[in-house]
Amino acid sequence: MPDSTSIHTLELLPVPAGYFERHPTGKPHVPTLEAYERMHKESIENPARFFGNWANKLLQWDVPFDSARLPELPVNDFKNGEIPSWFVGGKLNACYNAVDRHAMKTPDKVAIIWEPDNVNEAGKKITYGELLAQVCRFSQVLVKCGVKRGDTVAVYLPMIPEALVALLAIVRIGAVHSVVFAGFSSVSLGERINDSNSKLVITADAFSRGGRIVHTKAIVDEALQQAPQVAHVVVVERIGQTDSPITMVPGRDLYWHEETAKYNPYYPITSMNASDPLFLLYTSGSTGKPKGIQHLTAGYLLGVALALTCTFDFQPKTDVMFCAADIGWVMGHTFVMYAPLVLGGTTVVYEGTPNYPDCSRYWDIIDRHQVTHFSTAPTALRLLKLAGPSFIDGYKLSSLRILSCAGEPIAPEIWHWFNDTVGRGKCHLLDTYWATEAGSHLVVPFAGVTPTKAGSAGKGFFGIDLAVLDPRTGKEITELPARGALCIRSAWPLMTTGIYQDYARFKKTYLEDYPGFYVTGDGVYRDVDGYYWVLGRTDDVVNVSGHRLSTAEIESVLIQQDLVADTAVVGFPDELTGQAVAAYVVLRDVERLLNENAVKSELVQAIRKEIGPFAAPKLFLFVEELPKTRSGKLMRRILRKVLVGEEDQLGDISTLANENSVKGIIKAVKGRR
Ligand code: ATP
Ligand code: MG
Repeated sequence: MPDSTSIHTLELLPVPAGYFERHPTGKPHVPTLEAYERMHKESIENPARFFGNWANKLLQWDVPFDSARLPELPVNDFKNGEIPSWFVGGKLNACYNAVDRHAMKTPDKVAIIWEPDNVNEAGKKITYGELLAQVCRFSQVLVKCGVKRGDTVAVYLPMIPEALVALLAIVRIGAVHSVVFAGFSSVSLGERINDSNSKLVITADAFSRGGRIVHTKAIVDEALQQAPQVAHVVVVERIGQTDSPITMVPGRDLYWHEETAKYNPYYPITSMNASDPLFLLYTSGSTGKPKGIQHLTAGYLLGVALALTCTFDFQPKTDVMFCAADIGWVMGHTFVMYAPLVLGGTTVVYEGTPNYPDCSRYWDIIDRHQVTHFSTAPTALRLLKLAGPSFIDGYKLSSLRILSCAGEPIAPEIWHWFNDTVGRGKCHLLDTYWATEAGSHLVVPFAGVTPTKAGSAGKGFFGIDLAVLDPRTGKEITELPARGALCIRSAWPLMTTGIYQDYARFKKTYLEDYPGFYVTGDGVYRDVDGYYWVLGRTDDVVNVSGHRLSTAEIESVLIQQDLVADTAVVGFPDELTGQAVAAYVVLRDVERLLNENAVKSELVQAIRKEIGPFAAPKLFLFVEELPKTRSGKLMRRILRKVLVGEEDQLGDISTLANENSVKGIIKAVKGRR
C-alpha cells in the first residue's frame, strides 16, 4: 500500500552558520547534538535525577523537595490512570520565582516592554523593581476583595502590562488564575467563569485591537448575568470614560488605579506546595467543548524555564523574547509571561494584531526593541507572506537569532518564507509542537544543535518518550518510517493532571484510547531519520481506496499554488473509494472563479504531480473564509459535518473568530449537493 511521502523526504538543513555570529557566548545551553541525545536519554531513564537537578538549578525553593518524583522511575505510569507526583515536600511561589528574586538582584533590568495597539501611543518599559511594586499593590487589592489561597480568579484583559501584573499577583497570594481570551463573547466568558467557579473578574473598560474597539467591561457585565456568584469586578482604565462610557456597579465594581493606590509596594508571598494548582486554562475547542486544563505550580514552572533555556537557548542577560501570542492561550502564558520572567529576561507584550496599521508591525517591533527570539503561529505567517515583500524588505531584523512557530502544522512553503525572508540565513527556525495540556514543548528542535526539516518539529523534548501506535490495533510501531497515533509513554513534570472538576473526562480524553499511553490526539508520521511530522488530529487522515493520506500534506501542496490564499482539506464518505478528498479553497483572486474549471484543473495537476493521482480532491469548494478559532486554528469538524449534511450538529462553535464563515461553508456545499 503506497504511503504518500512527498513532504517527508525533505532534506536535513544544518543550523545556519550565521546563527553563531549573533550568539552572545557562541555556546548554546545544550552544546551539541550528542549532548541533546544524552540528556534526552537520561530524562527518560532517570527522570527523578534529571528533573530534580534542573529544578534545583532553575527554581528558587522556599522548602527543598524530598523526592523529585514518586515513583522515582517510570513504571507504567499511565496503566491505571495514575500519574506520579513531582517534587514532593517542596514549597515555592511562582511570583517569587518570576519577579522577587530578579527584583532583588537586578531591579533596573527591564522585565516588560509594552507595545500598544495604536502606533501613536507611547509604549512602556517596566523594570523588575517596578513590577514587584505593582504586583504587591495588586495582591493586597485581591486580599481585600476576599480572594484566598486556592480560589480561582477570572482574567479577561487585553495585552497590557496589568494582565501580567494581575496573574502574578494572583499566584503571589496562592490563588489560581483562569484567563479567558478577551475576544470571547459574553456567553463563552460566562460559561468559563462558572465552570472555573471564579468569584472575582479582572477586566478593562475597553481596548483597541487592530484599530477596533472591544468593550470588555460591557461584555463582563452581560456575562455576569449568568454568574451572579461573582462578588467583585476590578476594572483597568485602559481607554477612559470619555471614549467608552461604562457602568460601574456600586459595591461590586472597583477601579484598578484607585484600589492599588491605597497599598504599600510590598506584600509577602504565600509559599505553595509543589503540586498546588497554578492556573486553569481552557483549550482552543477545536474538537469540541473546551477543556479547563489545570497546571501545577512546580512542574509547570520548571518545564517552561527548561524549554526556554534548552530548546530556545535563551540568554536572560541579553535576550529579548517577543512571543506574538495572546495571554489567553497557553503560548501566551508560557512564552509571553512565565518562561521569560522566571529566567529573569525581557519580554515584549504587544496589544495589537500582525496587520495593524499594516503588515510591517511585527518587523518594526523587532527592530525597535532588538528582539532576539520571535515566536508566532503559522496562521499569522500566511497572512504576512501574502502581504508581499514591500512590508518587510526595509527592516533590518538583525537582532533576531531564534524564530519559532506553534499551533498547527506549518507548510514547507511558509516555513521557507519565514526562514529566508525573516531569518535571512542568520536564525535557527524551530517548529514547536505542543498543546495546552502539555504546558510546553513535546516535539521540538533544539536551538543551535538540531538540523531541521521544513515542516517537521523534530524529536522529543526532555522527558517526552514518544511512541507511534497503529490506530487499528493499538500496537506500537517501532520501525522507521511509521505513521499512526502520537502517544507518550510516561509522565513528564509539566503535563496537566486534570481537567478542572472533571477527572473522568481527563481519563477518557488522554488515557483510555490506548491503555498505558498518554494520547495526544494527533496523527503523526515519523520519517527514516526519526523526525516527527505532526499531521493534525487523528481523524484528519483520509483513507482513499486504502491510501492513507494526511490532509496536511495535500494542503501543503495547495498552499504553494499562487492562486491559493488559504485552504483546508477533509475527507468525506464515498461509495466507491471509502473516503474521498474535499478541498475547501480561498482564492487569492476571486475573479479567477470565472473560469472555475481552469482553476480546478491547475490545482489537481499540482497534487497529481506532488503526491499522486490518488490524492486529487474529488470535490473543490470555493469559499471566502475558513472557520477559525480565536487562536487561529481551523475548526475542521465544521467542514466535515457540513459536507455530510450535519450542519445542525456542529457542537460548540463559541470559540470561532468568524461565525459568519459557517454560512459561506454551508452555501458552498449546498451548491454542490
Ligand atoms: P481542543 O483540545 O479543545 O480541541 P486544541 O487542541 O486546538 O483544542 P490547543 O491546546 O490550543 O487546543 O492546541 C493544541 C493542538 O494544536 C495540538 O494537539 C495540535 O493538533 C496542534 N499543534 C500545536 N502545535 C503544532 C505544530 N507545531 N505542528 C502541528 N500541529 C500543532
Ligand atoms: Mg487539544
